[in-house]
Amino acid sequence: MIRGNDPILLTPGPLTTSLATKQAMLRDWGSWDAAFNGITLSICRDLVDIVGGGDDYVCVPMQGSGTFSVEAAVGNVVPRNGRVLVPNNGAYCARIVKICRYLGRDVVDLPVPEDQPTTAAIVDAALAADPTITHVAQVHCETGAGILNDLPGIAQVCAKRGKGLIVDAMSSFAAIEIDARATPFDALVAASGKCLEGVPGMGFVIVKKSVLEASAGNSHSLALDLYDQYVYMQKTTQWRYTPPTHVVAALRAAIDQFKEEGGQPARGARYAANCAALVEGMAALGFRPFLRPEVQAPIIVTFHAPADPAYDFKRFYAAVRERGYILYPGKLTQVETFRVGCIGAIDANEMRNVVSAVGETLKDLGIREIGSARPRKAA
Ligand SMILES: *Cc1c(COP(=O)(O)O)cnc(C)c1O
Repeated sequence: MIRGNDPILLTPGPLTTSLATKQAMLRDWGSWDAAFNGITLSICRDLVDIVGGGDDYVCVPMQGSGTFSVEAAVGNVVPRNGRVLVPNNGAYCARIVKICRYLGRDVVDLPVPEDQPTTAAIVDAALAADPTITHVAQVHCETGAGILNDLPGIAQVCAKRGKGLIVDAMSSFAAIEIDARATPFDALVAASGKCLEGVPGMGFVIVKKSVLEASAGNSHSLALDLYDQYVYMQKTTQWRYTPPTHVVAALRAAIDQFKEEGGQPARGARYAANCAALVEGMAALGFRPFLRPEVQAPIIVTFHAPADPAYDFKRFYAAVRERGYILYPGKLTQVETFRVGCIGAIDANEMRNVVSAVGETLKDLGIREIGSARPRKAA
């Protein structure tokens, strides 16, 4: 599927891309070029289609990593006197809380245990308790632990109570079903370098047209003003400031491959197979996932670190890298863990090879005791 001798990235972006996607970057584009601007337009159309957004939603691309687009969405969609509820079960939820504080938007930080999904009932109760909340900012797949939150249920609650909803679907978009007709939202944010399997460098916000049109003047930031980017693009077909041309070209190629593969259902199925092969192989080595299988998204798996005193993440990482695979450190506050991504231009065979590499590494480093000595919270 890929590469020369580069290691396989088992990280939730950047991730391993196909040869065709890399090859799409071998050409320089001018930002005024009609062909280039046609590519941007076609990408935006396809991205709205992926969530069934129809004519009610538009896609506004934004330069930068995914966080830039999350910040742009919060800054535009939430008026300066708005109040945002952030159900918080991990690092990316916490990042949204931080964004709200930077932007001076009132925020309610609602803690949810990081091994528990945020449910419709949790959000409903919080909204009932505080009617001054105007918006909910919800992470779909919390990439910190790899947990899937109940986005469809939460969207229904927001619709019922007349609250705005901003979705960080960065690590789920294109892999886990999101249908704007059944799961209405004000704005949904994702990026080029996650489950679409493009390269990193741009994000995008799929936003309800009426919400975007009412957002003029909300943004605290010129560079991140989605409304201004949209209006300029409508008028000129161009990006407002220098576009990430190679990233855009690679994303076009990546979306073409996504469609050829069979779209979101096929991509989601490949990732689910990757995840199953990984969890099964790691279990045979004695590794336990941090999450219960019912709440595990097929995007990234958090494993308990081995209890053996010979285990040290940096040495383990380096030894697995020598064998061709890049792992990811854990991001949990309570227990020591590491993560393995299931996304990118990789298949279940590759996941079995990773497990072999981990098995050999354990032997090499003399790590025998795998089962965690640290007790988990009672189930
Ligand atoms: C990757 C990711 C982001 C954005 O991270 P960047 O490093 O800015 O690209 C935001 N939210 C979630 C849930 C993510 O997985």
